Amino acid sequence: MQGIVRHGIGVSPGIAIGPALVLERRRVPVSQSELDQHQVTEELERLRVAVERAGVDLETLKQRTGEVLGTGVAQIFDAQVLLLKDSMFIGEIEKRIREGHQNVEWAVRQVGGDLSRRVANISDVYLRERGTDIDDLQERLLRALAGEEGNRLGHLDHPVILFAHDLSPSETAQLDVSRVLGFATDVGSRTGHSAIVARSLEIPAVVGLHDVTAMLNPNDTVVLDGDEGLVVVAPSETVLKEYQNKQISSSEHLVELMGTRDLVAVTRDGFRVKLTANIETSEDVESALAHGAEGIGLYRSEFLYLRRPGVLPTEEEHFEEYRKVLERMSPHSVSIRILDIGGEKILAGDTAVENDPSALLGLRALRLALRERELFKTQLRGLLRASAHGNLRIMLPFVSGVEQFLEAKSVIAEVHEALVSEGHAVADSIPVGIMIEVPGAAVIADLLGQEADFFSIGSNDLIQYLLAVDRTNDAVAHLYEPLHPAVLRVLRSLLKMAQDQDVPVSMCGEMASDPLTAMMLLGFGMEELSMSAVAIPLVKNVIRKVKQADTEWILKRALQLRTAREVEEFALEQQMALFPEGFLVRD
Ligand code: PEP
Ligand code: MG
Repeated sequence: MQGIVRHGIGVSPGIAIGPALVLERRRVPVSQSELDQHQVTEELERLRVAVERAGVDLETLKQRTGEVLGTGVAQIFDAQVLLLKDSMFIGEIEKRIREGHQNVEWAVRQVGGDLSRRVANISDVYLRERGTDIDDLQERLLRALAGEEGNRLGHLDHPVILFAHDLSPSETAQLDVSRVLGFATDVGSRTGHSAIVARSLEIPAVVGLHDVTAMLNPNDTVVLDGDEGLVVVAPSETVLKEYQNKQISSSEHLVELMGTRDLVAVTRDGFRVKLTANIETSEDVESALAHGAEGIGLYRSEFLYLRRPGVLPTEEEHFEEYRKVLERMSPHSVSIRILDIGGEKILAGDTAVENDPSALLGLRALRLALRERELFKTQLRGLLRASAHGNLRIMLPFVSGVEQFLEAKSVIAEVHEALVSEGHAVADSIPVGIMIEVPGAAVIADLLGQEADFFSIGSNDLIQYLLAVDRTNDAVAHLYEPLHPAVLRVLRSLLKMAQDQDVPVSMCGEMASDPLTAMMLLGFGMEELSMSAVAIPLVKNVIRKVKQADTEWILKRALQLRTAREVEEFALEQQMALFPEGFLVRD
């Protein structure tokens, strides 16, 4: 069959064309047998040797990943290294061998399966992804027991587009990047490991393609479009030609766009926009600068907590990490968001937080920080000490009311005072802002504006809660509509209240990085947009080619329409009129 098109989520931009390589997630076959008493010691010894071998493989991978992607990303293997030492995991396997007389392979599969199922039921998306670590480690141990090669995928002899049901952290890190043109997976989300790694490596990637691996034959030619989030399997000659041309022009334009790095983002009628980057670790700072970021609009500090599940970052680790970012970005501002995670993610750590299966609407982010004061204060101490090294802004996630914000500010003031009296250097005044991502907070922006130094709109969550659409659920993805009239109206009233109070507002959700929605934000008169580094040159180009007054007119008309589709069609029409040759073309 020719030209099968599958739509997914584009998580890393660019176009790749080449032969498909399907990575089969082959589970090592395992059978069950009952051990005689005299075989138990021998079986425990086999387990010990396999654990040792898996440990060595993981260290090799970690080192290699560190060399290619930096030590931050390499820490994704720490979860597996820790599991190898975990009594709940290895201890339970030993127990089943010793007391249940199970053969080692069977015990590994049973214990791994149990743990993996428990993690799969957790609602928190970050923690749920740790299930991949458990599955990965399970197969690694079984391969070691079967005497098979531990690290696959290391050597590819020709360039390929890699397809997999899912890519585990270790598979992603083993990729020979010089040979992988792009990758696509059946499952996955923007926040998954593979998406994060693809963006750092700057290779096109599409995830959430459902059954794409089942459609492929070995060596099928495929087109992968990371901008549009689609894959064409066995394209016709015409489609292939079309994408080859698009690839040439998009890579030429990318080079051209990168040339805009030092240009300011200003519209034709003189409206200046500050473009900043969203980052996850201090290693992302170089890419932010290379793409022309004028600051960091969102540093998602939760990655610091997720690198080593079960071990909480120390004050010193917080300090060092934030200091690096602040120093490198100085004099630009850096908005660091305090931890935005639910209870489960740090359950294995040394806190009294109870398991909260509804963490997304439960004990999350600032709510958790206010209940677990020591946890919050440790992060704040590191953060405030780092403030002496650059231009820090503190951002509080998931705020839903004034009281909560005031309480958080008083904890910040208390930590500030304590540090100063201990003789630490701390910046005198550090702006503290609110992420507007709970609809209720958007509605009371006038009240919050009396207390906050700035607002940053987290449109990813704001849309999800405003429209009651789980942002990670494929089945309702069509209802996740950034241009829904409800979203535009909430933004309009929120921005009006902020303007009346003179509170600066930025946007750090994905709405800022899409040229169409960014155009609307320009219409609202937003002066700061924060996005993943790779999106900056494109959005800057759009800004430089329009008049703010025109976008204001487009927005005004859009606000009179009744459905997201009408808004989108109208906005696209206007975009075509403004950019007849496409918005990639430079003046
Ligand atoms: C958001 O909600 O828009 C946001 C930027 O935060 P996150 O995607 O980390 O939830
Ligand atoms: Mg959010």
